[in-house]
Amino acid sequence: MMTAEEYVQSLRELGPRRIYLFGERVENPVDHPLIRPSVNACAMTYRLAEFPQYQDLMTATSALTGRRVNRFVHLHQSPEDLVKKVKMQRLLGQVTGTCFQRCVGLDALNAVWSVTYEVDQKYGTSYHERFRRFVLEWEEKDWTVDGAMTDPKGNRALGPSAQADPDLYVHVVERRADGIVVRGAKMHQTGVLNSHQILVMPTAAMRPEDADYAVCFAVPADDPTLIYIYGRQSSDTRKLEGTRVDVGNLHYGGQEGIVIFNDTFVPWERVFLCGETEFTGMLVERFAAYHRQSYGGCKVGNGDVLIGAAAAIAEYQGVASASHIREKLTEMVHLNETLYACGIACSAAGTRMAAGNYLVDVLLANVCKQNVTRFPYEMARLAQDIAGGLLGTMPSDADFASDEVGALCRKYLAAAVPAEERRRMLRLIEAMTMGALAVGYLVESMHGAGSPQTQRIVIQRYADLEAKKALARRLCGIDPDPFLPGR
Ligand code: SF4
Ligand code: FE
Repeated sequence: MMTAEEYVQSLRELGPRRIYLFGERVENPVDHPLIRPSVNACAMTYRLAEFPQYQDLMTATSALTGRRVNRFVHLHQSPEDLVKKVKMQRLLGQVTGTCFQRCVGLDALNAVWSVTYEVDQKYGTSYHERFRRFVLEWEEKDWTVDGAMTDPKGNRALGPSAQADPDLYVHVVERRADGIVVRGAKMHQTGVLNSHQILVMPTAAMRPEDADYAVCFAVPADDPTLIYIYGRQSSDTRKLEGTRVDVGNLHYGGQEGIVIFNDTFVPWERVFLCGETEFTGMLVERFAAYHRQSYGGCKVGNGDVLIGAAAAIAEYQGVASASHIREKLTEMVHLNETLYACGIACSAAGTRMAAGNYLVDVLLANVCKQNVTRFPYEMARLAQDIAGGLLGTMPSDADFASDEVGALCRKYLAAAVPAEERRRMLRLIEAMTMGALAVGYLVESMHGAGSPQTQRIVIQRYADLEAKKALARRLCGIDPDPFLPGR
């Protein structure tokens, strides 16, 4: 396993990448002040694995080699493994206060592992064996892998092959004896610059006419044909101001970007699906289910931070004992633990797939994520309520440092504690509920792992209303009662 330092160094050792931010090329993303907080957050998935007290959560025994591996490269071998994944994500959400990015690769690993097995069963292809070799290297090198699913999708009324621009979904543009050439883009890629490899999956269930779009493959993140465009976040330029107090969370942040495949060559050895359209729906559903489970961990950990910040600021401002404040904090805890309950439940009810690894309960995972599209928003509202209006009107760090007005800022913003502590806590709440960290805590909660409607579609499909109607018919006498024969 890599240490956190080795991980950061391994990012530096990637070949030159074409990365754009604010219209300019970034040569050294690792040390860019706007990007570095996201590197720090992802690095925490390595650092915590070094601590003896976190071994049980952060590491696992490889199903392939029997060696100790980071849990972020592990094929789940039991419901207990699924539960530990969620607990690990809550822990990391607490420690970083943001999105630590590495879960998309873990979720892609388990989804692609299971689906390639089933494709091979049906067609006698060798995708699973190829993927197994890829996974062995992934484990061995302790990679962070970007699980890339979301295409630009253009006009949502049209399928991939019906778009005016054929590149709006990633597709095969050339088949060669030694591999394929692909073109297209993936949007909203969490942690894409902090990854060693990119594992591309189709974004939706495809029809036979979309065969060129039914493609799953892996490429090194420093493949020279790739182009990256960094996504900006609200208040992101505060990170460039030199002082860090106003960013709220001093060291950690999330990261999303666009990655463009500009006629990228992929050797057959790294192609894991190519044209088998009927398996695309299965792959999307499994990846999405895993990532919807993930949110029952990471967002809960972030929620713990926000609850702590709200409780602290109440104390700092002398209102902690007010009954309405205690009531609001209780409500925040209730909402947060409800999300955790969903994350644990879909894990505990996980089942073994044909390939041997375990899948979460799909319905419960979707219910989990559906709640995540709502509860963090209510928690953010409550935190802002408790924080008070200074949350939106506070002088900058530069004013606090000013020879002319710094002392006045400190005098008039002091409360039950010195102004210094009060303003730091307010900045953290600001960052999480409307600043750069709100991308991770709120926008991702809404749209990450699929927007709310995508969960409702799955919930509807798994609802089994016929079975529920039968329950009702029996009780009111329309159907016979098999438990009371003869009556
Ligand atoms: Fe992991 Fe959560 Fe970030 Fe997704 S949003 S990558 S589950 S931390
Ligand atoms: Fe996400």
